[in-house]
Amino acid sequence: MSTDKSAETTIFARRESEARSYCRGFDTVFTHASGSEMTDEAGRRYIDFLAGCSSLNYGHNDPDMKQALIDHLSRDGLAHALDLHTDTKAAFLEAFETHILARRGMDHKVMFTGPTGANAVEAAMKIARKVTGRTNVIAFTNGFHGVTSGALAATGNSYHRGGAGMPLQGVTRVPFDGYMGGDMDTAEYLETVLSDPSSGVDAPAAIMLETVQGEGGLTAASAPWVKRVAEIAKAHGALLIIDDIQAGCGRTGTFFSFEDMGVMPDIVTMAKSVSGFGLPMALMLVRPEHDIFGPAEHNGTFRGNTHAFVTARVAIEKFWSDDAFAKEIAHKAEILMHALSNVAEMVPGARLKGRGMMQGVDVGSGDLAGDICTRAFAHGLVIETSGPNDEVVKVLAPLTTPEAQFRKGLDILLSAAREATGNNRMAAE
Ligand SMILES: *Cc1c(COP(=O)(O)O)cnc(C)c1O
Repeated sequence: MSTDKSAETTIFARRESEARSYCRGFDTVFTHASGSEMTDEAGRRYIDFLAGCSSLNYGHNDPDMKQALIDHLSRDGLAHALDLHTDTKAAFLEAFETHILARRGMDHKVMFTGPTGANAVEAAMKIARKVTGRTNVIAFTNGFHGVTSGALAATGNSYHRGGAGMPLQGVTRVPFDGYMGGDMDTAEYLETVLSDPSSGVDAPAAIMLETVQGEGGLTAASAPWVKRVAEIAKAHGALLIIDDIQAGCGRTGTFFSFEDMGVMPDIVTMAKSVSGFGLPMALMLVRPEHDIFGPAEHNGTFRGNTHAFVTARVAIEKFWSDDAFAKEIAHKAEILMHALSNVAEMVPGARLKGRGMMQGVDVGSGDLAGDICTRAFAHGLVIETSGPNDEVVKVLAPLTTPEAQFRKGLDILLSAAREATGNNRMAAE
């Protein structure tokens, strides 16, 4: 790691905006990446438990995706096509229809938005408002939906909200599952305020949620709670938007994070790992009866990244044409939970968070969580924190990480936690 002094003299410190963020915690220059490993310019290798914040669920440079992209480039396939029909878009849509939508009984249309998650969220909120003729969107405490103005209104984090520079409007915040402690059913609170014409909460266009709050601290909503919220949305004429940008694409164990919950969202937003390769790509799935934007009403020059269509198609065919991958994720999720409970044992009051391959430990303080991550990095592991006070050590390893390498990364995390807590006792196996 560079010292502070040398960091001040780098091109990044000299010219890159102060808005840069992740790079501050991992002060080196990366040059290569393959699978679940990244290499820096000094030749040091790191296991990647950040995975582009879940944009690299299939690891770095998957050989099949890479080859398909090289072939596409070599034959002068289109690099940019606005939203024109292309062979690669057709092939992606065919694969998505066959292996993802049809199998799950989903009749949703696929709308390509600009290539960021925030853009898909903007489209979702806009179309819900257009469909219902209502303005208000219900979003939840600790939700994160992006930082463009519309999406930011739905994001809870005060630091991000503070960057808006103007009032953030059109969203009512309600408590997420478990927010008020064990006894209070926050879905019933939602039902109560929506049923009371004097509650002061306007009838909503949409209710938008993450089933596992990625940035907000890995709080996982229970299936019955999500189901109840879906019923409430329906009863009150609001669309249910599930923001699956981080929790989707297999992260929780199934392609969509809500698959085993008995709900069918009106709208689903996807980005991060949807291209499979870390290329920018976002989309919104919307039930056909709500697919009412006119041509170009939600426009964008980069709607549909042709290179991303190529890799996204390979990702779907390679990983989602049967249930082998889901089984593999379930197995690794157990290994993860076991390792994280060993970390939690070192910290009084620590709590396990999340589900599937989207789990972490709330160690109670941002300082301790940050210390653990810094020490992990010194030992060759890239890992980040999450949560309102950055108090959750969050594991977002590529889902494809080979088991031995996964265990090695978890061992590094355990050593880092031992150092940070001054707890040198070997954790019970
Ligand atoms: C990352 C994220 C977004 C925003 O995506 P960007 O590509 O950063 O704009 C929105 N919702 C959730 C749940 C996310 O994790």
